[in-house]
Amino acid sequence: MLKVSKLKRAYGDFIAADAVDFSIAKGEIVGLLGHNGAGKTTVMKMLSGYLEPSAGQIYFEGKLLADHLKMLQQKIGYLPESLPVYPELSVAEYLDYAAELKGLRGFEKQQEIKRVVNATDIAAKLLAPIATLSRGYKQRVGVAQALLGKPRLLILDEPTNGLDPQQTLQMRALIRAIAKDATVILSTHIMQEVDALCDRVLMMRAGQLVLDAKLAELRISRSLLVTSNLAMDALQQTLGAITGVKAIDILDSQAGETRARVHLGEAGDVKAINAAIAKTLVGNGAQLYQLQPETRDLESLFREVNSNLPSNNNKKVLENAA
Ligand code: ATP
Repeated sequence: MLKVSKLKRAYGDFIAADAVDFSIAKGEIVGLLGHNGAGKTTVMKMLSGYLEPSAGQIYFEGKLLADHLKMLQQKIGYLPESLPVYPELSVAEYLDYAAELKGLRGFEKQQEIKRVVNATDIAAKLLAPIATLSRGYKQRVGVAQALLGKPRLLILDEPTNGLDPQQTLQMRALIRAIAKDATVILSTHIMQEVDALCDRVLMMRAGQLVLDAKLAELRISRSLLVTSNLAMDALQQTLGAITGVKAIDILDSQAGETRARVHLGEAGDVKAINAAIAKTLVGNGAQLYQLQPETRDLESLFREVNSNLPSNNNKKVLENAA
């Protein structure tokens, strides 16, 4: 549904985004991560058609965004980092204006405004001037305008920025509900948000995409913890003969129990190797007390990707994660 190819944006001599390539399938919720200044907003602005790329292409539903800008923009909902300010307009007037920009008119426009007002729970402030709204309300108005016209792609730049914990939970529930009918790409600094919402993460660093991976795959590391009644040498020998096992670290061996960390090679399905380990141990008459894939801590993985590793190391993470 969205395909980005060699996307680049320069501001004068400074390159804010470079060689950005990714595709997003229908119905995915993708988190765009990165430190301040990594280039997230720049990419989101280009995806929503509000900033022209210096090079590269964006295809939305098979059409080049640049060639069908107006038509495609009406199918894209965009929550910018900060809402364009129309302080004197009431919420109702602003939504009316935003709906017109989306090409909505008459009865359809009224129905759509009602729908997004309900979805974002802002009916109580419809007549209030935008200038008088709290940060949380303004953010909800921003999401409301993004939802107008039932966009098939929603681009949300830090949707929970500035919200209190209660509002944050409400916003996440809203995004989950929206994602039932639309594809969502959202930027955030908050790892819990990624955990709570996203199927996949894209991470930017200094204008480049350094990680593109499914969250479930990122969580699985290629190591397992195994505990058995076999003695150290016997366990090492038995596990070492299994295809897909690369190395074994004995963690502990005493009182008829040995604990080991089993490192798997790059190839091979983790679940299948798990099954082979269980089958081999039990088949050899050993007791299997524990067989557990180790999970990766996302915070530390992201810190690693974002730290000042040489870029070829980051590339490796990107390749491994893909
Ligand atoms: P944040 O998390 O702080 O919002 P970001 O990842 O969204 O950061 P961008 O806003 O895309 O980052 O900015 C990327 C880089 O481009 C930054 O160094 C920023 O200073 C620079 N930049 C952004 N807009 C402009 C502009 N209009 N002119 C010059 N430089 C800009």
